[in-house]
Amino acid sequence: MKSRIIPRNDSLCALCRIREADKTGSHMVPNLLTAVTFSFDGKTKRDREIVELYHINNPEDNAIYYGSQVAPEKIAEDLGHEITDEELEKNTNLLCYDNIFCYQCENRFGVLETTYGEYYKGLKNDINPRIAYLFWLSVYWRMAIGYMGIFMDGEDEFALRDILNKNIHSYNEIINSKEKLGDYGYVIFRVKDGIIKGDSGILGTRTPHCPYVILVADYVVALFNNYKKLHSKVHIFNWEIYKEDINTPDKPFDYIEISIEEFYEFRDNIIDNGYNEGLGAEREKLARKIREYERSQGKPVNKYEVKKLMDMAHLVDSENVHLRVRKLYRFEAAYMKMIEAQKNGISYDFLKDRQLMLNQEDINNYIADLQNLRKHNYSIDGFPFAKEFLKDETITSFEEIINKYRPT
Ligand SMILES: [Zn+2]
Repeated sequence: MKSRIIPRNDSLCALCRIREADKTGSHMVPNLLTAVTFSFDGKTKRDREIVELYHINNPEDNAIYYGSQVAPEKIAEDLGHEITDEELEKNTNLLCYDNIFCYQCENRFGVLETTYGEYYKGLKNDINPRIAYLFWLSVYWRMAIGYMGIFMDGEDEFALRDILNKNIHSYNEIINSKEKLGDYGYVIFRVKDGIIKGDSGILGTRTPHCPYVILVADYVVALFNNYKKLHSKVHIFNWEIYKEDINTPDKPFDYIEISIEEFYEFRDNIIDNGYNEGLGAEREKLARKIREYERSQGKPVNKYEVKKLMDMAHLVDSENVHLRVRKLYRFEAAYMKMIEAQKNGISYDFLKDRQLMLNQEDINNYIADLQNLRKHNYSIDGFPFAKEFLKDETITSFEEIINKYRPT
């Protein structure tokens, strides 16, 4: 099975920067979190994931990955046919990366993941705050290294690497150490009643400043880089959080429970942040090149120089019209379910579907996005509900397109 490979400027391990990065199949987000997020049947053993790239806000490309333990009938149901050899060949594991770490460093993360896993699965009632802190820092840092969701400011990325590289040792060494672990603080939100497949993903804010917000498994996490200087109340999107709710390595670990609706509100905020403040394609490419250069040098480059380059790339981006259709995948699913229900003579209201979590505002945004596409001379034939929502008979409906390609 193929893994993802990031073009890098050298072949050294990203953590120790001493040994060769010879490890293949590294998880950037620990399996204990991705299994919950992507498992096709809710079981959390390895290789049961179905990952669509739109669940990982990576602007790069579109793909679906099927874990080797996903039931063939589930894949067939998804694809509409048995998986072909060609599809199998192209089936890159979107969660695994080759040649980022050395074997030793990959194993170092194990102590954090095992301990956090016992707590996460409810086998232990609490967790040492130094372990939890290093665990979450390692998730942030690895997501940044793999360009999964978040893009951090260079200063933070390098500070995190330093903390992790100096401090990940055995369990006893970590909990008994008096070493300072930096001035980061993080808030954890966790869904009260659990999640179902499709709710979650690996998402992160794409603005290179704090708080960095990520969403993975049933968690939303926000990271601050200057805990001591924070006011007694801080903001994460529309949420107001008390400083006492922020975790540090020096106080007992705790989290805030949220409803599934609040989870979706976070999710939408994170995705909108990516669209509104994130990088366009040219800037993204350039930002990655600069970051890889910085990583190979072991330090951030002059911010002024970076800004000059990024401004130039921005000009290229601005020439490409900013087009997007919000929640298109969910409207596609809604449409398919509607057709299925009609066929079976069942009444169906997608606004009440727990798996889709769509509301009237989403419909308004969706209509506005379709109209915007049209304004820029793009065809909206075949977009789900385009014909219905815009009440325009000249548009080819989604159903007509499906029927055209349906085997008779
Ligand atoms: Zn290493």
